[in-house]
Amino acid sequence: MIAATPVMATYPRLPVAFVRGEGAWLWDASGRRYLDAVSGIAVCSLGHAHPAIAAALAEQARTLVHTSNLYRITLQEQLAARLTALAGMDGAFFCNSGAEANEAAMKIARLHGHACRIAEPQIIVMDGSFHGRTLATLSATGNRKVQAGFEPLVQGFLRVPYGDTGALAHVASTRRDVAALLLEPLQGEGGVIVPPEGYLSAARELCDRHGWLMICDEVQTGMCRTGRWFACQHWGVLPDVMTLAKSLGNGVPIGACLARGVAAQMFQPGSHGSTFGGNPLACRAALAVIEVMEAENLARRAADLGALLFDGLRERLAHLACVRALRGRGLMVGVELDRPCEGLVSRALTDEAVLINVTSGNVVRLLPPLICTTTQIELLAEALGRVIRDWIG
Ligand SMILES: *Cc1c(COP(=O)(O)O)cnc(C)c1O
Repeated sequence: MIAATPVMATYPRLPVAFVRGEGAWLWDASGRRYLDAVSGIAVCSLGHAHPAIAAALAEQARTLVHTSNLYRITLQEQLAARLTALAGMDGAFFCNSGAEANEAAMKIARLHGHACRIAEPQIIVMDGSFHGRTLATLSATGNRKVQAGFEPLVQGFLRVPYGDTGALAHVASTRRDVAALLLEPLQGEGGVIVPPEGYLSAARELCDRHGWLMICDEVQTGMCRTGRWFACQHWGVLPDVMTLAKSLGNGVPIGACLARGVAAQMFQPGSHGSTFGGNPLACRAALAVIEVMEAENLARRAADLGALLFDGLRERLAHLACVRALRGRGLMVGVELDRPCEGLVSRALTDEAVLINVTSGNVVRLLPPLICTTTQIELLAEALGRVIRDWIG
């Protein structure tokens, strides 16, 4: 039975509500404890109720929560300095979500296009991509289900298959109106897709040769999730624009659009803005997140735990006929099955008290907190092995 609630029905919610968390554990009101391998969809990378984040937030709440971007904000300037140094960028714009970070990136791309005297600048986007739910970001997204019902879509996107260098080269040889290329270094919602070796650097070269801005959507993959600070670093690629959100505030809403070179010069006073973006509370949270990630070397930890999880899953799942592929980087792991498997989520919840996610219909996606213990990772691999084996019968 569906409980009546005035909350709009945008999500098909599981019948559980959590009241408390600690690290990778969550508790419901009855006291049942769950292992969280979703992290609020790659948001709570430091786990729940992290003491350093809680202390920073409480102190900032007692000091100053919000002023306005009409004034200088010291914590915002500090955060911009930390992030640009980590990412090899020159400037930062702050907002409140991944979609907004991508909106900023796309506005930079259009300004760049017009600066290059392109009348209607186009942005190359990918099949299977996900960039958010605002009208422009859902138009850029490569998933018809996200777009259906919201036509007319925003114009100005050219779609190509993900991972296909030839398709990019074809656009380069046939179009003169491209301003930018937008892609996820690994696709998240699209099913944890790792691009073929050499793809990102080939994309970088084409961007250089044709004056396109390379925009990496690192909203899900950034901030140590894949075993590097940013996933594009696995392939030694430096984009012109990088978007971040999800784990940047460990649950406090904050997004960032970072840019370098000409891309960092596009916004001028009046070109873009956000009332809440980069307020003292959100920036304090993000600064505390970076501090913990650096002090505890969580990029390295994500790589190590990812290898452990991968081995644990391979041992338990690789021999099953229903398992098509096991892939990912660091603690962003996908198990592709040969059939739709959304039902596994409630099975894992009820039978194992483990939170997992299914994306793209048939891919189990695991995004555990980066602060997991090795015991928790082993527990996760065991539980998932059991759930999948039971489910296929
Ligand atoms: C989640 C996600 C977004 C959208 O972020 P919101 O904060 O939900 O707007 C954009 N891009 C990628 C790659 C994502 O995973």
